[in-house]
Amino acid sequence: MNLPGQAHAPSWYADSVPASPLRTPLRGDHATDVCVLGAGYTGLSAALSLAERGYRVTILEAHRVGWGASGRNGGQAIVGYGCEVDTLERLVGHADARRLFDFSRDGMALLRHRLQHYAIDCDWRDGHASVPISLRQEKTLRQGLLTLAERYDYPLQWWDQVALRTQLDSPRYRGAMFDAASGHLHPLAYAQGLARAAEGLGVVIHEASPVVELVRGTRPQLRTAQGTVSAGQVVIAGNAWLQGIAPELESRIMPVGTYIGASEVLGAARARSLIRNDMAVADVSWALDYFKLSADHRLLFGGRASYSALPPPGLRGVMTRRMHQVFPQLADVRMDQVWGGYVDITRNRAPHWGRLTPNVYFAQGFSGHGVAATGLAGAIIAEAIAGQNERLDVFERIPHGRFPGGKLLRMPLLVAAMSWYKLRDVVG
Ligand SMILES: Cc1cc2nc3c(=O)[nH]c(=O)nc-3n(C[C@H](O)[C@H](O)[C@H](O)COP(=O)(O)OP(=O)(O)OC[C@H]3O[C@@H](n4cnc5c(N)ncnc54)[C@H](O)[C@@H]3O)c2cc1C
Repeated sequence: MNLPGQAHAPSWYADSVPASPLRTPLRGDHATDVCVLGAGYTGLSAALSLAERGYRVTILEAHRVGWGASGRNGGQAIVGYGCEVDTLERLVGHADARRLFDFSRDGMALLRHRLQHYAIDCDWRDGHASVPISLRQEKTLRQGLLTLAERYDYPLQWWDQVALRTQLDSPRYRGAMFDAASGHLHPLAYAQGLARAAEGLGVVIHEASPVVELVRGTRPQLRTAQGTVSAGQVVIAGNAWLQGIAPELESRIMPVGTYIGASEVLGAARARSLIRNDMAVADVSWALDYFKLSADHRLLFGGRASYSALPPPGLRGVMTRRMHQVFPQLADVRMDQVWGGYVDITRNRAPHWGRLTPNVYFAQGFSGHGVAATGLAGAIIAEAIAGQNERLDVFERIPHGRFPGGKLLRMPLLVAAMSWYKLRDVVG
């Protein structure tokens, strides 16, 4: 684990929320009902749901609330998971795939409910478009739209290129699958809002408190360098940063770097001319571009997957070129800032949630699709801890393979697989 208590990665997000004082690091030995590792959306959501049910909860966070993916992401809150429903059907059959999809709709409703109920101000905007670049992508999207309408009772709109251009001023896309129920938000403000809501219900959050060991047993314990918390149940919500705490979880995910740039301020009129209805947009390539407007009228533009622990060279130039490819009319516009983080992908890109032992729960493997699903994961873990396992049981039926080859080989194998997908995107 890196030095504890690191500030948030420099980003437009970190610059656009008020600075908050460091919460007290853990010192000494403590006992509680549930101890949570990680103050990203997953851990915060579990803690909030547990506190709503009357549990005493302590969260141990290595750095700051929202320091990980939850404070850096594209902010696109989308119904569904990192894999399509046909992958879920192949893995668990139609009946369970249908349940899982319906749960994800519950997750979106939960997110909207929390924003309202806890007055979390995070610039929420309705609407999300998935946009194809190639004919093959268009056919796949249209087929997906049919499947969702006919087999999942989830009707979405199809916009042809002309209809799309009335909302999105880019020549790059052939049309759009538009989902009015999904949307976008300010990721770090959302994480901080969840933390405030949880603390309002008595949850204790220790920042700068990296967990160095999970001690399993009838009363599991999380240990930091300066203290311990023993609890009836533990929740592991550390995403791609666990580093040896639970090797059987870590071998089932691969950290993949993805990056975002914030353009300089465009002004209200120019920003709105790009995305008139203020929706979030993502293409459907493997190394996808995704973008939205910020409340202060910038374009926040994400993309460029990387399978190395190091940031790609010339990142700002790469992100700027990608932005210009989508919006040639921004040729004079530069990126003010670029930043990145890791997504935790599973081999099948389906979510990996469940129980490590009867009293140690986890949720990981959001595969770049966690803004809405993490809230659901936390709520489902909380209800399982309270004795209602039905929804978690469905997730536990999803089979997950390890990435072959252990830590050293995982990366080269993934790079080879990803190169294939990228090539497929290029040849259409
Ligand atoms: C650049 C980027 C763009 C993305 N864009 C989108 C998007 O537009 N839409 C979408 O749906 N998803 C997106 N995602 C994915 C989404 O952000 C994640 O799925 C989600 O935030 C995961 O939340 P989490 O709580 O599981 O993990 P995190 O937010 O990473 O939180 C894990 C926390 O655990 C802490 N931790 C880890 N180990 C320890 C330890 N040993 N002790 C104590 N604390 C520990 C970390 O410090 C961290 O704060 C994106 C991700 C990235 C990186």
